[in-house]
Amino acid sequence: MALSKKELAAFEEQLSTWVNELKEGQNESVHQMHDQETTAFPDPADQASAETDLSFDIRIKTRELKLIHKIEETLHRLREGDFGACDGCGGDISVKRLQARPVTTLCIDCKTEQEQSERTRID
Ligand SMILES: [Zn+2]
Repeated sequence: MALSKKELAAFEEQLSTWVNELKEGQNESVHQMHDQETTAFPDPADQASAETDLSFDIRIKTRELKLIHKIEETLHRLREGDFGACDGCGGDISVKRLQARPVTTLCIDCKTEQEQSERTRID
């Protein structure tokens, strides 16, 4: 483990704040959706655009839910002492990379390799 206790504490705080913000956003949006459901749309065009907004909103929320799950997993790893270890090779993920993307579970080498093999599969 290449990270100091101080760095780990900073990551834990960053991730906790992030996940709380996302969760708050989720709650707000649920209320908004509820409001929209109870609003009557006399004009069918308004109704259609409201539905498009709603499905767009749901898509974003779904993506956020996945992110929330990922952050919670990362917080769990952090508490278990697995944070910063690469799932691919077991090596340390660089602090710079973790700061840029704290929920990552792969070091840059493994990530590059994964992306390359994904690209090969698509081709
Ligand atoms: Zn690796």
